[in-house]
Amino acid sequence: MRCKGLNIYSVQESLMEMFPVSVEMRSFIEDLPKAELHVHLEGTILPATVLKLAERNRMDYPFKTVEEIQEALDSRTTSLKSFLDLHYMFVSVIRTKADFYEVTYEFLRTCMNNSVVYVEIKFDPQFHTEQGISFDAMIKGIDEGKKDGLRDFGVDCNLIMCINRERTVESAWKMMEQAYPYRHLITGLGLDSYEKDNPPSKYTEVYEKAREQGYRVTAHCDVNQEDSVKHIWECIDLLKTDRIDHGINSIEDPELVAELIRRDITLTTCPTWRNPYPGPRDLEGIKKMYELGLKVTLNTDDPAEFTSEYMNRTLIGAVEGSGYTKEDLVQFMRNAFDGSWLPRDRKDMYIASLEEYALGHTG
Ligand SMILES: [Zn+2]
Repeated sequence: MRCKGLNIYSVQESLMEMFPVSVEMRSFIEDLPKAELHVHLEGTILPATVLKLAERNRMDYPFKTVEEIQEALDSRTTSLKSFLDLHYMFVSVIRTKADFYEVTYEFLRTCMNNSVVYVEIKFDPQFHTEQGISFDAMIKGIDEGKKDGLRDFGVDCNLIMCINRERTVESAWKMMEQAYPYRHLITGLGLDSYEKDNPPSKYTEVYEKAREQGYRVTAHCDVNQEDSVKHIWECIDLLKTDRIDHGINSIEDPELVAELIRRDITLTTCPTWRNPYPGPRDLEGIKKMYELGLKVTLNTDDPAEFTSEYMNRTLIGAVEGSGYTKEDLVQFMRNAFDGSWLPRDRKDMYIASLEEYALGHTG
């Protein structure tokens, strides 16, 4: 989930389609083998599925048609409240193990259609358990969807459970306790939601325990938050994350940039867009990070709720706004496979097939 303030790096209408994408480039993007490291399961639910689950769970739901949902999405303002109100209304339709299964399975089908071969999916347990859903039902539904998605669509994935940072530290400890019996099913721990007054340092001890338990760790440092740069330092020094989600403000501090490169930290940026902006946000900042040699990846964040949609559309938008070449796109994907939490031999296997694709399509 993205918590946005005013975006000094945001790219407005004028940059959209500054670099028109040829038919050949479009097809290169569509078939490019991809990895995605920053996407929230709860932000992937298609409007038709939202309605289906609301009906199946006999909810008195305010939306009755896909068009009504689309209209609500289109009329959302840029405020965080406006984003989250609707987001949580969608999330609230997931009530049972079967629902979690379906949402996960459906998303992996969409991954296949976007040539995403590997994805790390974030999910927010505290929201669901607060609704009275058991951790067991949630994680088993997701895990079964994941296994069947691999079998039916050939899309491999790992899971990242996220702490909603505006909740209490006690609530995060409780989540860790609930997750413990399912530790083998969850690869990483993340931190998301309202960043203001909830610095990474709030969770230093929780992260220490998580690392002890073998979780890989990452955390959101959203764009242009109060103390964004300080928060990125806290993530790498206190939480000891090997990834940062977003982290675009790092470019304001040359010392931080040097340290992120030295520690080989992966930054999962999201050049997404939604109404009322017609083009991708943060493109200038992302390009600067890339040019500085940071290990940047491109991701979709909450694709069902954004006009930028899933990976293919998002990458096309990034090329339209920034003029990236095929080689650049291959480098972004190399960064993603390399920065993933797969074992080394699996990363190398995916990178080899990426190189093979690149060889046949560039030059
Ligand atoms: Zn996010």
